Amino acid sequence: MVSMETLVSLCKRRGFVFQSSEIYGGIGSSWDYGPLGVELRNKIKRVWWRDFVQRRPDMLGLDASILMHPTVWKASGHVDNFTDPMVDCRECRHRFRVDQLAETPWVHYCPATKGNKFTIPAGGACSHCGAARTLCPDCGKGELTPPRQFNLMFKTLMGPVEEDAAVTYLRPETAQGIFVNFDNVLQSMRRKLPFGIGQIGKAFRNEITPGNFIFRTREFEQMEIEYFVNPHETVEGRPADEYWHDRWIEDCLAWFRRYGIQSDNLRLHEHARDELAHYAKRTADVQYRFPIGWSELMGIANRTDFDLKQHAKFSGKALTYFDEERKEHVVPYVIEPSAGVDRALLAFLADAYREEEVRGEKRVVLRFHPELAPASVAVLPLLKKRDDIVRTAHAIRDELSRDLTVVYDDTAAIGRLYRRQDEVGTPYCVTVDVQTVGDSDKGEPADGKVTIRDRDSMEQIRVEAARLAQVIGDLLRGTAWAEVAAGAGRS
Ligand SMILES: [Zn+2]
Ligand SMILES: [Zn+2]
Repeated sequence: MVSMETLVSLCKRRGFVFQSSEIYGGIGSSWDYGPLGVELRNKIKRVWWRDFVQRRPDMLGLDASILMHPTVWKASGHVDNFTDPMVDCRECRHRFRVDQLAETPWVHYCPATKGNKFTIPAGGACSHCGAARTLCPDCGKGELTPPRQFNLMFKTLMGPVEEDAAVTYLRPETAQGIFVNFDNVLQSMRRKLPFGIGQIGKAFRNEITPGNFIFRTREFEQMEIEYFVNPHETVEGRPADEYWHDRWIEDCLAWFRRYGIQSDNLRLHEHARDELAHYAKRTADVQYRFPIGWSELMGIANRTDFDLKQHAKFSGKALTYFDEERKEHVVPYVIEPSAGVDRALLAFLADAYREEEVRGEKRVVLRFHPELAPASVAVLPLLKKRDDIVRTAHAIRDELSRDLTVVYDDTAAIGRLYRRQDEVGTPYCVTVDVQTVGDSDKGEPADGKVTIRDRDSMEQIRVEAARLAQVIGDLLRGTAWAEVAAGAGRS
């Protein structure tokens, strides 16, 4: 498994992810996506939307605003319950989550050894004096305040005059935007249960301990689905909510595998009873073997009818569905597959990373699924001094870029250009050479063919330039390289 340092360094060097406000020394846990990062991110979101919203007859989309009526967060429980108990050090002012104190190594000035400084492993006692930690683990000197509840929502003021402005929040999850629009969608789109609403959007949490690169950040983007089912129905002899929960778990696992995540690096974690959120009947996390160890990639929760009932109670509006068959109003149950764009991106990046040895040299390659790779094709002229080669390469770039993300690079020798594209995961390189355009000085005719090189096998084939867009399209849609190569003849 690739280390986090290697990924962070590759991401900066090759334009995937930069530290936010870097020229000012950066700001904690905020990251900017560079030219390749934004392409990768957009492609992850696009295939997610296509597979889970566009292609499913039982799904619809939504884009709710980030700023919502403050009562939304009272109803959802976030104002009262979205908190972590915190303590502060009276000396160094560092802040700690109470539940993480026992997991933190601590600094100790030992009275039994003339005040020598030791760092004692988390949860341990001093081997000289036997003391357990009571003071601040970071400075070893300050007393800690009693625990206080710290709300993780970002507060802001809405309105023109600060004194009169209403306190509101940057949404900590996109889910509530879907719940408060349940009836709007139901009425305008005339759906029958079960159906789901998908949304991709930013959310904000003032995490006390963010970190591990883009794994945990205060500003992040979610890809969420709220799937509404009739709790009085049964499917295959089981309550509909339980049946659909299992279906969504399978679909989400299959989605990550489909886009290249290795099965060995995925596992399911069922929340134990005491881990469950108060509204949840069952929650299963899809975990990924990140460079920091097994951690949550996404969660799939059965939120029951909790949210719709809460919003009905606080708004006074009925949020029910009329079941024609049973002639009754029901509050749907909700299955919520919730994934983070940034975490998915980190998983796809880590999983794609390979170091290989090719003819005695190290090759770094990102084996992205062709649909996720930041650039689908690189167009490389073999000789940048030949006008006709450069002109043809530009024409090819222009044609392919109507539908695809294409890069053009002529700033190094071909071997080096290939390695550069391998390192950012471009699945196919197209080169234009002397044979393509011919050599009138030597009386050699143009053959009108270009070379396509496959990133993973490093094999090359020659195809007519006129057929290039078709061939690349087939490859990106999943036609095997071997099949395309058999039709074209290896070079
Ligand atoms: Zn301290
Ligand atoms: Zn001691």
